[in-house]
Amino acid sequence: MKTVKDYIRTIVDFPHEGIMFRDVTTLFSDPRGFRMCIDQILNPYAGTRIDKVAGLEARGFIIGGAIAHQLSVGFTPIRKKGKLPGATLSQAYQLEYGEAVMEIHDDAIQPGEKVLLVDDLLATGGTAQAGIQLIEKLGGEIVGCAFIVDLPELGGRAKLEAMGMDVHILCE
Ligand code: 5GP
Repeated sequence: MKTVKDYIRTIVDFPHEGIMFRDVTTLFSDPRGFRMCIDQILNPYAGTRIDKVAGLEARGFIIGGAIAHQLSVGFTPIRKKGKLPGATLSQAYQLEYGEAVMEIHDDAIQPGEKVLLVDDLLATGGTAQAGIQLIEKLGGEIVGCAFIVDLPELGGRAKLEAMGMDVHILCE
């Protein structure tokens, strides 16, 4: 039987030379693969209260929307700077070269809401860390951070666990 990892393809030299890009669009486009991925992300949270799913731009929107629908809860996008139309909170984070900023609507999460944060891939953990900080600034309580893929040599998991996060990842 195929695993989630079997549906993910690798594109060499994207977005630039020397990068092996893990492409999850082949996982999303397969009905069994996509269902398996969403089910496996949700498995460890059976019986856990989740009030809202937050997804990181852009592939976190695809899995986050499916998970929120499955749980019958709301979905909140965390986007790159300048994309959200309403009043936002911002959080800067480090990239390999330079800095980037993620934003959340300032009324997207109510204090005390239990939030599941999702994205497709965890590398250095910088993007997820910014997402965690934004959710926590609004008073949300993060019940878990879930990803399809971890690149363990980049240390993202350790970074999030050092922040006290419960991290759930389907494959490396
Ligand atoms: P980090 O902030 O952990 O270094 O990078 C993770 C972010 O970059 C995620 O939002 C993820 O979507 C994106 N990303 C970086 N490398 C890859 C990759 O090889 N494949 C995919 N699908 N996303 C990547």
